[in-house]
Amino acid sequence: MSDRGLGSISEARYSRQVLFPGIGPEGQKMLSQSRVLLVGCGGLGSVMAEIMARAGVGRLTIADRDYIDESNLQRQSLYTEADCQAGFPKATAAIRHLSDINSGVELAAEVVDVNPKTIEAMVPGHDLILDGTDNFETRYLLNDASLKWNVPWVYGACVGAYGMSIAFVPRRTPCLRCVLEQLPAPGSSPTCDTAGVIGPIVHLVAALEAAEAIKILTGQLDRLNGKLMSFDLWENQVWGFHLSQLQRDSDCPACGRRIFEFLEGKHEGKTVALCGRDAVQVHRDAPSVVDFPTIAGRLAPLGTVNFNEFLLRALIGRFEIALFRDGRAIVRGTQDVEEARRVYAKFIGS
Ligand SMILES: [Zn+2]
Repeated sequence: MSDRGLGSISEARYSRQVLFPGIGPEGQKMLSQSRVLLVGCGGLGSVMAEIMARAGVGRLTIADRDYIDESNLQRQSLYTEADCQAGFPKATAAIRHLSDINSGVELAAEVVDVNPKTIEAMVPGHDLILDGTDNFETRYLLNDASLKWNVPWVYGACVGAYGMSIAFVPRRTPCLRCVLEQLPAPGSSPTCDTAGVIGPIVHLVAALEAAEAIKILTGQLDRLNGKLMSFDLWENQVWGFHLSQLQRDSDCPACGRRIFEFLEGKHEGKTVALCGRDAVQVHRDAPSVVDFPTIAGRLAPLGTVNFNEFLLRALIGRFEIALFRDGRAIVRGTQDVEEARRVYAKFIGS
């Protein structure tokens, strides 16, 4: 745990926040000792990461599997054109910018796909999980992890001009599965692919999530909103669905019976089309460290290849392959999972 923030409590840096009666010196001290895990650092994640870093949390871990693409810049407020040109993973670029914003926060980047195999190394040791993901599979995984390791989490999602947010506290509130009951079938919910997304709803939902986060981290659970809040900024509508209308379901597999199907990997889809991108993420079954120079040498005659310490990018025909060091790749130029697997097998190997 970092104590670097402790010395700053009485200083000017946090003075406006300490003046706010809801936080005060005691709340600021709690924030400075808190450890936050942010999963997904796209639009929602960018805004939440900045708010939490500026608020002076003790440690902020940013987990993200993706790299920065030009189409991100319209709403993913932490990133710049230079990050995009350099081909940085989002988590890496995020902590570079955040360390300029607040050097007193301990920052960690995890360039990783959060899945049943990787999540156990991440969640324990954190006081809160913030959801900046773009898919229900990962959210149900976060829900299981929250319950198993007793860590509250805040859910947020947006598409088009519509967005929603809710805070989940183990043993105190219903869980995501109580609220939504079953995993939505693929294709049943609109995505950034089909409906686009505008910046204002991203900032609004991220702000709601961050407000609930600050309440949780300062121990003020009685201040939580207690509603599934949703907004449509184009239809000009606001809804608040009160959780007291929903009992915790004793039959809920996750919070009632404590069967963590998503942590056990029962619903895992290893190769997935990515939201908002003409792209598919491909996993290898047995990831080992990838040797970029060797692969670059092999692919160079076939197209344009470059790499940095985090990422190799190869433009071959109509496909762009972005290969991470853990062997995971994002194949751009297709939404077809099978085609992406073939491209991976052909150019990277099986
Ligand atoms: Zn439940």
